[in-house]
Parts: sequence; C-alpha cells; structure tokens
Amino acid sequence: PKPNERILDVRKVTRRFGGLVANREMSLRVDAGEILAVIGPNGAGKSTLFNLVSGVDVPNEGDVIFRGHRINGRSPRELAAEGLSRTFQHVKLLPDMTVLENAAIGAHLRGHKGVFASALHLDGEDEARLLAEARRQLERVGLGHELDRTAGSLALGQQRILEIARALCADPCLLLLDEPAAGLRHKEKQALAELLRKLRAEGVAVLLVEHDMDFVMGLVDRVVVMEFGQRIAEGRPEEVQRDPAVLRAYLGG
Ligand code: ADP
Ligand code: MG
Repeated sequence: PKPNERILDVRKVTRRFGGLVANREMSLRVDAGEILAVIGPNGAGKSTLFNLVSGVDVPNEGDVIFRGHRINGRSPRELAAEGLSRTFQHVKLLPDMTVLENAAIGAHLRGHKGVFASALHLDGEDEARLLAEARRQLERVGLGHELDRTAGSLALGQQRILEIARALCADPCLLLLDEPAAGLRHKEKQALAELLRKLRAEGVAVLLVEHDMDFVMGLVDRVVVMEFGQRIAEGRPEEVQRDPAVLRAYLGG
C-alpha cells in the first residue's frame, strides 16, 4: 500500500436481524499504516460490523470498500487472497498439531482451493512452499523457536500470536482482530501490543474490535465508539476517553 492510501472504507452499512437494527448507517475508514479500534458496550454491534467487513455476513444497505473495490458479499477466503485477513475467535487452533502446522493452515488461504480440501491433496512442492511461508511468518511474530511444540502447550498469549501468524500467512495489508486481548495477562497484552506496533511499522493496517479499554488506549491511533448499532464518537484515544457520550455509554448512565 502507498502511504495514506485508504485501505478500508465502510460506508453507511445497515444490518437488520428481524426488527433489530444491529448496525445503522455505520461508517468508518482505515488508512495505510494505522491501527483502528472499534469499542463499545456489549450488544453495541461490534461483532456484526466485524462480520460485515470480513465477509462472514452481508449488509442490507451500504457498502464495504477495500482498496477501492466494493467487497459486499465476498467470502472470507476470497478476501484473504486479496489481502484482508482475519483471526477467528471461534476457529480454534488445532491443539495437538505443531505450531508450524497450525501456521501452515493459514498459508493455504493464499491458494485457490479450500483450506481443508487442499490440506488433503498437497503435492510435495506445495507443502514445502506452505511450510516455508509459515516458518517465515512465525519468525516474524517471534515464534520461530517454537515450531515443533504442539499449539495446545503454548501459553494463551502465544496461542493468540500464533493465530496472528496464521492470518499473516495470507500476506494481508489489513489485519482484522476480534478481541485479541481477551483473557490475556498483563505481560501477554504488552507482548501483543508490541507485535501490533511492529506490524504497523511494516505496513500492515489493523482493525480491531476490543473490550479492553486499557489495551486500546495505549496502542491504537484512532478509536470508533459504537452504541446501539451506531457510531457515537470517533477520535484519538485521549479525546474519546473523556467524551461525555462515551462515558455515558460505558457507565450505563
Ligand atoms: P457486540 O459485538 O458489540 O457485543 P453484536 O454485534 O454481537 O454486538 O450484537 C448487536 C445486536 O445484534 C445484539 O442485540 C445482538 O443480540 C444482535 N445480533 C447479533 N447477531 C445476531 C443474529 N445473527 N441474529 C439475531 N440478532 C443478532
Ligand atoms: Mg461481540
């Protein structure tokens, strides 16, 4: 991406579930080299928005534009191949497989076949290429010395970083993270924040949905705050933190 390139442009997306409007004319943008957080109380519509952007769900109205192209309705796999890659809160690592094998699953996303289908039909050359890419990304995130451990034996913070390595195997210019700090200890959060800063410096834009205010405040460039499916505030973390509407939303007043 060029400096200042508009990577993601969400334009007035609306998503209804029956009578409930989970996102109402939500808009946001992510520029190259930026970490943006979407925060808000439970039920605000963050996960809905995340799913609309990452191809898991389709808006009823509005557009999601990725690097100048409308991507409404494109599958997560197609998006990953084009440089928009997400971690999955509910697609767990395979605990009995090694760190290297788990990361290599992500490398499949660059190909044209389905992830698990292609896992069963790899020729030797494909497999060597995928493993090399996985190794490269594991070194990038600082897990290069843990290749042969089982994923399940890693601490939670390292598992979270392994999930990011897996997403990086698709070589994204935008990384989407769903509550990356959830359940982590203080030290693990610091390590995760350090990794995200490094990726930002390497030109990967990051959009994260997060509950943990402290984690967000020390890390991100900009915050978008949601409540009742709408954007109620946007700005630098320090600005947003003292916005009366945000305080009200969080304190439930
Ligand atoms: P958040 O992630 O901010 O907690 P969500 O996006 O998960 O919020 O949910 C926003 C609202 O939309 C909630 O009221 C939730 O119950 C509703 N919702 C989310 N997904 C669905 C769905 N698949 N079907 C019906 N209602 C949904
Ligand atoms: Mg959620």
